[in-house]
Amino acid sequence: MGGQGLRRRLILFGAPGSGKGTQAELLRQRYDLDHIAPGDMLREHRAAGTELGHLASEYMAAGKLVPDELIVNMIRHRLEDDGDAKGFVLDGFPRTVPQARSLQELLEKMDRPIDLVAVLDVPEEELVARLSRRATEERREDDTPEIISERLRVYRVQTEPVLEYLGDLVPVLRLDGRGSVEEVNGALVQAIG
Ligand code: ADP
Repeated sequence: MGGQGLRRRLILFGAPGSGKGTQAELLRQRYDLDHIAPGDMLREHRAAGTELGHLASEYMAAGKLVPDELIVNMIRHRLEDDGDAKGFVLDGFPRTVPQARSLQELLEKMDRPIDLVAVLDVPEEELVARLSRRATEERREDDTPEIISERLRVYRVQTEPVLEYLGDLVPVLRLDGRGSVEEVNGALVQAIG
């Protein structure tokens, strides 16, 4: 591990339900990366009752995106805190073109360029099925049918365009996210080097 050629600054990209969180966690364990997931960070803020948690909660409950400025500040602090020792996997950020622009600017200043954007492609029917299953298992408040369809709509409208923006700047790899957890992980490990 820790070889020179390792691509260790990663963005995992995909719709809600595409498996980003599961795969990011496996990569964190294998390569000792910092797993940066704004959705998890926001849920922690909410549970801790911080001002940010309070501001974010209505957006999250409705399946809408939290305003860019709040998210970008939160991620900026996180990246500043983590140092550049290990590398990172971003899971759920950037989710809008302005977020992607801010990230590019920030990482350029820090001299920490993104090595790879890995996209987990999963058809919409499969996403709906997975999110509905998770709704029963985890009882997340934003996994109700109406809110699931809103989150998928937000993904198509606000998040998909991020790929076009990033595609001009960093290597993008599209993976079939319908495979098993192990298959998708294998493909990611291969891409990381
Ligand atoms: P999922 O990918 O399954 O939708 P997440 O845990 O990544 O779940 O996100 C949950 C919610 O947190 C989102 O619906 C949104 O309200 C908020 N959120 C997460 N990441 C971002 C982001 N980058 N920008 C704005 N809001 C975000």
